[in-house]
Amino acid sequence: MGRIILLDELTANKIAAGEVVERPASVVKELMENSIDAGSTRIEIAVIDGGLTEIIVADNGSGMDADDAGLALERHATSKISGADDLTRITTLGFRGEALPSIASVARLRLKTRPRDNLSGTEIVIEGGKILKTGETGCPPGTILEVRELFYNTPARKKHLKKQTAETGCVSDIVSRYAMGYPGISFQLKSNGRVVLQTPGTGDLLACITGVYSPETAREMLAVKAGDGENSVNGYIGKPSISRSGRHHQTIYINGRYVRNRTISEAVERAFHSMVMIGRYPVFILNIITGPEQVDVNVHPAKTEVRLAQTGRLQELVERAVAEALAGHRLIPAAPAVKVPTVKTPAETVRQEEWQVPYQEVSAAAKVCEAPVAYKDVTGICELPVPEEPAGTEGFPDLRPIGQINCTYIVAQGRDGMYLIDQHAAHERVLYEKFMDRPEQYTAGEQLLFPTTLQLTGQETQLLNDRIFDFTELGFVIEYFGGDTFLLRSVPAGISKNGGREIFLDLLDYFSRNRYRITTKDLREKLLITMACKSAIKANQKLGLPEMEALVGQLAAANQPYTCPHGRPTVIHFSGYELEKRFKRVL
Ligand code: ADP
Ligand code: MG
Repeated sequence: MGRIILLDELTANKIAAGEVVERPASVVKELMENSIDAGSTRIEIAVIDGGLTEIIVADNGSGMDADDAGLALERHATSKISGADDLTRITTLGFRGEALPSIASVARLRLKTRPRDNLSGTEIVIEGGKILKTGETGCPPGTILEVRELFYNTPARKKHLKKQTAETGCVSDIVSRYAMGYPGISFQLKSNGRVVLQTPGTGDLLACITGVYSPETAREMLAVKAGDGENSVNGYIGKPSISRSGRHHQTIYINGRYVRNRTISEAVERAFHSMVMIGRYPVFILNIITGPEQVDVNVHPAKTEVRLAQTGRLQELVERAVAEALAGHRLIPAAPAVKVPTVKTPAETVRQEEWQVPYQEVSAAAKVCEAPVAYKDVTGICELPVPEEPAGTEGFPDLRPIGQINCTYIVAQGRDGMYLIDQHAAHERVLYEKFMDRPEQYTAGEQLLFPTTLQLTGQETQLLNDRIFDFTELGFVIEYFGGDTFLLRSVPAGISKNGGREIFLDLLDYFSRNRYRITTKDLREKLLITMACKSAIKANQKLGLPEMEALVGQLAAANQPYTCPHGRPTVIHFSGYELEKRFKRVL
């Protein structure tokens, strides 16, 4: 006897909802996507209690006539594709025709919609998948979707949700990503009646970044723009000084779709390589445009992951674009202001705090940023200062060393004020680039006169066995002696002979911490960084003026002079203006 039955429509929709509608933010996402696909220029989102009580998404897009409005709520009803062939060249955000019926199956839903040319609109009320009301209504052109009591009929799902504040956070996050992905659309998000996010919709991405993050963040952004004839990338990257401890502030769009993509993130991070410290990640917002046939969007229920046909090529393009954007800018952090213990008038206090921003780019254009331009967005609701993008593409400043402080920092004079250079960090950078220029030369094995013995733990021995070729490649020749003892017979030529053992153990340790993620190239680089660190001038080392001049000259000639290979700054700047401020020559 057959046991297979066809599920009824409501059950099928609930199953689909299980995949698409995970939490209030997923509803907001699907509804925003529909509004964007409908050609809206304004999208207003309002949530109550993180979206659990109510979600309203209103747009001024194409709207639907009565027939389409009814169809839209049916499963697999879509205006965006007409057959399987179309799946290979998707140019809209939606295409499955699943979102509306899925949402309708797990919430109380009211749809009001009107095409611009129609005099009246259509209203449909549907609860738990059942249509309760349908009829004519008065409404503005566009579509309003009201979703109430999400998961009221699926208590298990409801229980799974986080606290309201966390759900509000998720909603705000997804709205932010779409707002930055579509600068031409004005987005507004209200949470419990309060406007929490607003973008002007003027097409200016930097204005959206200001709305989503802050004027300070926007000020630290560099524009990215590149293409290879078929594909293009554009957007903004945050300077190394505003890197974060995770990847959360990385936003990638592929053909306008917000996606998570590790390979693209890694391409960006490669370009930032040695400019941010280990464990820090760059902030960026990047739009990648490629042929729709190059992207398979039908691989993930919520469509937040895609499969790319030409990953390598896109990675190359992104890495190059970001590297170019970074290369064109002087990235010397300004010295953080020191609190001067004087009595201040309230107005002075404000001014003092204004320039307490620790890492500001120092360039002629940065001064322009200090005086924010008052700016009114089209809706007149919020007034946001929009920074001018510093366009400085000057090279390293011309510096004349004057002396040393604490035998650690070189004091130098430049065209615009005073510069302090960390002698160790600067020398590390110079050596690192020298080593990276000809790695084979510096990692060639050099035999030790007397082998050094090493005692390794069982785990270390195992690791060494696994990756012995990597170590040999880097110039370490190791021989088993017996018991837990090994002999180190040869070390890379660039290592001062006595440091070989220590560096080898450091590398082994690095391996054991990051075991499977490390390639030979990573290891070589780590070796060269360690070599640079060990061979560089130390702090507390007295230098003569000619030595300082030579070091500063070499640093100026480096490709990436502003940070040491670990990502710490090599130089900080006190502008003439700042000095004048501190001595109260100007107020
Ligand atoms: P999909 O977006 O995958 O097509 P949905 O269930 O999200 O599926 O929507 C079904 C259809 O309803 C869409 O194809 C579209 O024609 C219509 N629709 C949904 N939302 C809107 C809207 N905000 N404005 C105009 N049409 C819409
Ligand atoms: Mg949709």
